[in-house]
Amino acid sequence: MNIILLGAPGAGKGTQAAVICEHLNIPTISTGNIIREALRTGTEMGLKAKSYMDEGKLVPDEVVIGIIEERLQNDDCKNGFILDGFPRTIPQAEALDKMGVVIDKVIDIEVPDEVIVTRLSGRRVCEKCGRPYHIVDLKPRVEGVCDDCTGALIQRKDDHIDTVKARLEIYHAETEPLKDYYGAQGKLTIVEGQDKVEDTTALTIKALEA
Ligand code: ADP
Ligand code: ZN
Repeated sequence: MNIILLGAPGAGKGTQAAVICEHLNIPTISTGNIIREALRTGTEMGLKAKSYMDEGKLVPDEVVIGIIEERLQNDDCKNGFILDGFPRTIPQAEALDKMGVVIDKVIDIEVPDEVIVTRLSGRRVCEKCGRPYHIVDLKPRVEGVCDDCTGALIQRKDDHIDTVKARLEIYHAETEPLKDYYGAQGKLTIVEGQDKVEDTTALTIKALEA
Protein backbone atom coordinates (compact mmCIF):
# COMPACT_ATOMS: atom_id res chain seq x y z
CA MET A 1 0.00 0.00 0.00
CA ASN A 2 1.28 3.46 -0.91
CA ILE A 3 0.31 5.99 1.72
CA ILE A 4 0.64 9.75 2.15
CA LEU A 5 0.47 11.38 5.57
CA LEU A 6 -0.77 14.95 5.43
CA GLY A 7 -1.01 17.45 8.25
CA ALA A 8 0.49 20.61 9.66
CA PRO A 9 4.03 20.60 11.03
CA GLY A 10 3.78 19.16 14.53
CA ALA A 11 0.49 17.35 13.90
CA GLY A 12 2.23 14.09 14.70
CA LYS A 13 2.84 12.70 11.21
CA GLY A 14 6.18 11.23 12.24
CA THR A 15 4.69 9.37 15.19
CA GLN A 16 1.84 7.94 13.12
CA ALA A 17 4.27 7.05 10.33
CA ALA A 18 6.19 4.89 12.82
CA VAL A 19 2.96 3.14 13.81
CA ILE A 20 1.99 2.39 10.20
CA CYS A 21 5.53 1.31 9.39
CA GLU A 22 5.32 -1.32 12.13
CA HIS A 23 1.76 -2.32 11.27
CA LEU A 24 2.27 -2.84 7.52
CA ASN A 25 6.03 -3.38 7.46
CA ILE A 26 6.69 -0.72 4.82
CA PRO A 27 9.31 2.05 5.05
CA THR A 28 8.66 5.67 5.98
CA ILE A 29 10.13 8.27 3.67
CA SER A 30 10.44 11.62 5.40
CA THR A 31 11.75 14.44 3.22
CA GLY A 32 12.49 16.46 6.39
CA ASN A 33 14.73 13.68 7.74
CA ILE A 34 16.47 13.18 4.39
CA ILE A 35 17.23 16.91 4.16
CA ARG A 36 18.46 17.10 7.79
CA GLU A 37 20.72 14.12 7.14
CA ALA A 38 22.10 15.82 4.01
CA LEU A 39 22.74 18.89 6.14
CA ARG A 40 24.63 16.90 8.76
CA THR A 41 26.83 15.24 6.17
CA GLY A 42 27.31 18.57 4.38
CA THR A 43 26.20 17.59 0.87
CA GLU A 44 25.52 20.27 -1.73
CA MET A 45 21.78 19.61 -1.52
CA GLY A 46 21.93 20.01 2.27
CA LEU A 47 23.69 23.35 1.99
CA LYS A 48 21.15 24.59 -0.54
CA ALA A 49 18.24 23.57 1.70
CA LYS A 50 19.61 24.98 4.95
CA SER A 51 18.52 28.61 4.64
CA TYR A 52 14.99 27.67 3.62
CA MET A 53 14.64 25.20 6.42
CA ASP A 54 16.00 27.47 9.15
CA GLU A 55 13.47 30.13 8.22
CA GLY A 56 10.61 27.64 8.15
CA LYS A 57 10.18 28.02 4.40
CA LEU A 58 9.64 25.21 1.94
CA VAL A 59 12.65 23.91 0.09
CA PRO A 60 12.11 24.45 -3.69
CA ASP A 61 9.90 21.84 -5.37
CA GLU A 62 12.55 20.63 -7.80
CA VAL A 63 14.92 19.76 -4.94
CA VAL A 64 12.42 17.67 -2.94
CA ILE A 65 10.92 16.10 -6.07
CA GLY A 66 14.42 14.94 -7.04
CA ILE A 67 14.94 13.46 -3.57
CA ILE A 68 11.67 11.52 -3.72
CA GLU A 69 12.13 10.31 -7.27
CA GLU A 70 15.48 8.80 -6.33
CA ARG A 71 14.32 7.36 -3.01
CA LEU A 72 11.23 5.63 -4.42
CA GLN A 73 13.45 3.62 -6.77
CA ASN A 74 14.96 1.85 -3.80
CA ASP A 75 14.10 -1.85 -3.50
CA ASP A 76 12.50 -1.45 -0.08
CA CYS A 77 9.64 0.55 -1.65
CA LYS A 78 8.36 -2.19 -3.92
CA ASN A 79 5.73 -3.44 -1.44
CA GLY A 80 4.63 0.05 -0.50
CA PHE A 81 5.77 3.07 1.46
CA ILE A 82 4.62 5.90 3.67
CA LEU A 83 5.36 9.46 2.59
CA ASP A 84 5.77 11.76 5.60
CA GLY A 85 6.13 15.42 4.64
CA PHE A 86 5.75 14.93 0.88
CA PRO A 87 3.94 16.21 -1.12
CA ARG A 88 3.60 19.62 0.49
CA THR A 89 2.50 21.57 -2.59
CA ILE A 90 0.22 20.88 -5.56
CA PRO A 91 3.18 20.78 -8.02
CA GLN A 92 4.80 18.12 -5.79
CA ALA A 93 1.61 16.02 -5.93
CA GLU A 94 1.46 16.45 -9.70
CA ALA A 95 5.08 15.35 -9.96
CA LEU A 96 4.21 12.09 -8.14
CA ASP A 97 1.40 11.50 -10.64
CA LYS A 98 3.80 12.16 -13.53
CA MET A 99 6.24 9.62 -12.12
CA GLY A 100 3.43 7.08 -12.36
CA VAL A 101 3.29 6.59 -8.60
CA VAL A 102 -0.16 5.39 -7.57
CA ILE A 103 -1.28 6.49 -4.13
CA ASP A 104 -3.79 4.27 -2.33
CA LYS A 105 -4.56 6.25 0.81
CA VAL A 106 -4.04 9.75 2.14
CA ILE A 107 -4.43 10.24 5.87
CA ASP A 108 -4.70 13.81 7.05
CA ILE A 109 -4.00 14.41 10.73
CA GLU A 110 -5.83 17.52 11.90
CA VAL A 111 -4.67 19.49 14.92
CA PRO A 112 -5.70 23.08 15.77
CA ASP A 113 -3.04 25.75 15.21
CA GLU A 114 -2.95 26.79 18.91
CA VAL A 115 -2.10 23.23 19.94
CA ILE A 116 0.66 23.07 17.34
CA VAL A 117 2.25 26.30 18.52
CA THR A 118 2.38 25.02 22.11
CA ARG A 119 3.67 21.63 21.05
CA LEU A 120 6.43 22.77 18.72
CA SER A 121 7.72 25.72 20.69
CA GLY A 122 8.10 23.41 23.72
CA ARG A 123 9.64 20.58 21.74
CA ARG A 124 13.25 19.59 22.35
CA VAL A 125 15.18 16.90 20.53
CA CYS A 126 18.23 14.88 21.46
CA GLU A 127 21.21 16.19 19.56
CA LYS A 128 22.65 12.69 19.22
CA CYS A 129 19.78 10.24 18.63
CA GLY A 130 16.91 12.56 17.63
CA ARG A 131 14.47 11.37 20.31
CA PRO A 132 11.82 14.05 20.88
CA TYR A 133 10.87 15.55 24.28
CA HIS A 134 8.64 18.38 25.49
CA ILE A 135 9.40 20.88 28.23
CA VAL A 136 5.97 20.33 29.83
CA ASP A 137 4.40 17.16 28.45
CA LEU A 138 7.32 14.82 27.91
CA LYS A 139 10.17 15.72 30.23
CA PRO A 140 13.40 13.74 30.35
CA ARG A 141 14.44 12.23 33.71
CA VAL A 142 17.22 14.81 33.99
CA GLU A 143 16.59 18.27 32.56
CA GLY A 144 18.37 18.84 29.24
CA VAL A 145 19.69 15.27 29.01
CA CYS A 146 18.43 12.39 26.82
CA ASP A 147 17.13 9.37 28.77
CA ASP A 148 18.42 6.99 26.10
CA CYS A 149 21.88 8.20 25.19
CA THR A 150 22.67 11.13 27.59
CA GLY A 151 22.93 13.43 24.53
CA ALA A 152 22.10 17.12 25.02
CA LEU A 153 18.52 18.23 24.34
CA ILE A 154 18.30 21.14 21.95
CA GLN A 155 15.59 23.18 20.27
CA ARG A 156 15.43 22.85 16.49
CA LYS A 157 15.95 26.29 14.93
CA ASP A 158 12.67 25.94 13.06
CA ASP A 159 10.82 25.23 16.33
CA HIS A 160 11.32 28.80 17.60
CA ILE A 161 7.91 30.39 17.99
CA ASP A 162 8.11 32.91 15.13
CA THR A 163 9.32 30.22 12.75
CA VAL A 164 6.53 27.90 13.87
CA LYS A 165 3.99 30.60 12.99
CA ALA A 166 5.60 31.07 9.57
CA ARG A 167 5.49 27.30 8.98
CA LEU A 168 1.79 27.21 9.84
CA GLU A 169 1.02 30.03 7.43
CA ILE A 170 2.81 28.21 4.65
CA TYR A 171 1.01 25.02 5.57
CA HIS A 172 -2.41 26.65 5.19
CA ALA A 173 -1.49 28.37 1.94
CA GLU A 174 0.51 25.66 0.15
CA THR A 175 -0.19 22.26 1.70
CA GLU A 176 -3.81 22.37 2.84
CA PRO A 177 -5.10 22.53 -0.79
CA LEU A 178 -3.83 18.95 -1.12
CA LYS A 179 -6.83 17.86 0.95
CA ASP A 180 -9.10 18.86 -1.95
CA TYR A 181 -6.68 17.36 -4.47
CA TYR A 182 -6.85 13.90 -2.88
CA GLY A 183 -10.41 14.32 -1.62
CA ALA A 184 -11.54 14.69 -5.24
CA GLN A 185 -9.82 11.35 -5.99
CA GLY A 186 -11.69 9.69 -3.11
CA LYS A 187 -8.46 8.85 -1.29
CA LEU A 188 -8.62 11.16 1.73
CA THR A 189 -9.40 10.17 5.31
CA ILE A 190 -9.30 12.79 8.05
CA VAL A 191 -8.04 11.77 11.47
CA GLU A 192 -8.64 14.23 14.30
CA GLY A 193 -5.42 14.30 16.33
CA GLN A 194 -6.15 13.45 19.97
CA ASP A 195 -4.45 14.57 23.18
CA LYS A 196 -3.22 11.04 23.76
CA VAL A 197 -0.98 9.52 21.10
CA GLU A 198 -2.56 6.04 21.57
CA ASP A 199 -5.98 7.50 20.75
CA THR A 200 -4.71 9.05 17.51
CA THR A 201 -2.99 5.78 16.67
CA ALA A 202 -6.23 3.83 17.06
CA LEU A 203 -7.94 6.22 14.62
CA THR A 204 -5.07 5.90 12.14
CA ILE A 205 -5.24 2.11 12.16
CA LYS A 206 -9.00 2.29 11.66
CA ALA A 207 -8.49 4.63 8.70
CA LEU A 208 -6.03 2.18 7.13
CA GLU A 209 -8.40 -0.73 7.45
CA ALA A 210 -11.43 1.14 6.16
P1 ADP B 1 7.68 19.48 10.07
O1 ADP B 1 6.65 18.52 9.50
O2 ADP B 1 7.75 19.45 11.56
O3 ADP B 1 7.64 20.85 9.47
P2 ADP B 1 9.78 18.24 8.51
O4 ADP B 1 10.89 17.55 9.15
O5 ADP B 1 8.79 17.45 7.71
O6 ADP B 1 9.10 19.00 9.70
O7 ADP B 1 10.31 19.41 7.55
C1 ADP B 1 11.22 20.37 7.99
C2 ADP B 1 11.56 21.33 6.86
O8 ADP B 1 12.11 20.62 5.74
C3 ADP B 1 10.39 22.10 6.26
O9 ADP B 1 10.06 23.24 7.02
C4 ADP B 1 10.95 22.44 4.88
O10 ADP B 1 11.88 23.51 4.94
C5 ADP B 1 11.72 21.20 4.50
N1 ADP B 1 10.86 20.24 3.77
C6 ADP B 1 10.53 18.97 4.17
N2 ADP B 1 9.72 18.37 3.26
C7 ADP B 1 9.50 19.28 2.27
C8 ADP B 1 8.72 19.28 1.07
N3 ADP B 1 8.00 18.23 0.68
N4 ADP B 1 8.74 20.42 0.31
C9 ADP B 1 9.46 21.49 0.66
N5 ADP B 1 10.19 21.56 1.79
C10 ADP B 1 10.22 20.47 2.60
ZN1 ZN C 1 19.45 10.63 22.73
